[in-house]
Amino acid sequence: MSRLPEMPPCASLIAGEWVRTPHALSVEAPATGRVLTEIARCQTTQTEDAVMAARQAFDGQLGRWHEWSARLRGEWLFSFAAAIDEDAETLAALECADTGKPISQAKGDIAACARYFRFYAGAADKLHGETIPFEIDYAVMTLREPFGVCAQIIPWNYPAQIFGRCVAAALAAGNTVVLKPAEEACLSVLRLAQLAQESGLPPGVLNVIPGLGSEAGATLAAHSRIDHLSFTGSPATGTLVAQSAAAHHVPVTLELGGKSPQILFADADMDAALAAVVRGIIQNAGQTCSAGSRLLVESTCFDAVLSHLAQRFGKLRCDAGENDPDCGPLINARQRTGLEERLAAARADGVRVLAEGRLAEDAPPGGHFVMPQVLVDIPEGHAVLSEELFGPVLAVQRFESEEEAVRLANATDFGLCAGIWTQDGGRQLRLAKRIRSGQVFVNNYGAAGGIELPFGGIGRSGHGREKGFEGLKSYTRIKTVAIRHG
Ligand code: NAD
Repeated sequence: MSRLPEMPPCASLIAGEWVRTPHALSVEAPATGRVLTEIARCQTTQTEDAVMAARQAFDGQLGRWHEWSARLRGEWLFSFAAAIDEDAETLAALECADTGKPISQAKGDIAACARYFRFYAGAADKLHGETIPFEIDYAVMTLREPFGVCAQIIPWNYPAQIFGRCVAAALAAGNTVVLKPAEEACLSVLRLAQLAQESGLPPGVLNVIPGLGSEAGATLAAHSRIDHLSFTGSPATGTLVAQSAAAHHVPVTLELGGKSPQILFADADMDAALAAVVRGIIQNAGQTCSAGSRLLVESTCFDAVLSHLAQRFGKLRCDAGENDPDCGPLINARQRTGLEERLAAARADGVRVLAEGRLAEDAPPGGHFVMPQVLVDIPEGHAVLSEELFGPVLAVQRFESEEEAVRLANATDFGLCAGIWTQDGGRQLRLAKRIRSGQVFVNNYGAAGGIELPFGGIGRSGHGREKGFEGLKSYTRIKTVAIRHG
């Protein structure tokens, strides 16, 4: 393994200070299964302190954040984006070692993190309320105000990107933040928090409390003094945190993953489509909420598509992220064995593996590798078509008509993303309107990450929107001021 960068502190960031905790948690490298470092294990005391620091910073009892205008906040966000760019190599090396993802993807994630800060830096002073024509002797306006203390609970699959998505928008809008990163992978987040402190962010504006979901996470979600909660992770945990937040009437944004379909018609540009289909499922070893995990293929091109997919998947290589393979390991043994069990059950039900990638000969032993693979002959209604597998597994189905394509695409409780591949303009629009999904891509998948594009789910994929201007608005609330001037 190449030399690792210096590890971030084994501590939590509270009120501008790095605070050590009585207990620590080991962090494992997914590529080797060996311990990489330790992180702080925040419990009730640290979570309370972090919420209190964020509260005081927002209310003007700690630091001067409350005096920062939208323009000043934007200027800080710009300078922080530059600090991220400057540190990109170290951040990417940490992200690669910690999550196991290929180094080129880790670099892309760090660049995206900086772009979030730049986007919301520019947007900070362009978000405003409205005036409303009312009765003749009134002047009425809406003020767009920050919520106050934003609690953010984020997962391990894209720590740096999701940090950017949540923190940049919340701070641009004038909130303060308590962020609970995932225990499986949060080294880039800790380094980003260090950079934020060094870049002059006032104390208490950003507090980071690493720890277990059942401890720091649960305490944060149930805290009576948070004003907003955003959660990214599994539907089961999303339900729990939303229930906790409801006890205090705290508004919640939930981003809970998906089972996203790509719909491939025979008239599509096949080279572009198949490249995007493969990319859409192997990126981050399929551990992506918006992964294109289902492929629906028009029957007239079904056999040809299967033979292309078999060729492409047969050439895919799995290896440690630092060797920049097509596909890295899964995050840990729990995710790997969980996926292997589901795949074994599917094979026992008659599901066939059409093709799979291979492990590099010199891949490190102990890595949590699952080969990228294509599943076919899947009975309708089978779990591999409805459950989020969170691995590099593409489930393929055949359809005869546009009507059937829509029915199969919508045969899921999730609704995060969908891809439609066809040259027929009318069909593009008809399907885009009929697919139940927060985002629909036509003749592309994912729009290269599009941080400017509102993103979020329907149904089991969650609710609320992040990214783009919608994301910024979601960290504000409207106050109506009605002045009767006589
Ligand atoms: P999870 O939802 O349990 O964890 C996500 C975050 O929530 C982590 O920070 C975790 O510490 C925290 N958390 C866990 N329990 C909590 C609780 N009771 N209260 C408050 N916070 C809590 O996800 P997981 O167990 O890491 O992964 C399980 C499955 O979730 C995956 O297989 C995948 O299907 C899905 N997942 C989805 C995403 C996504 O981007 N939508 C990300 C990670 C995992």
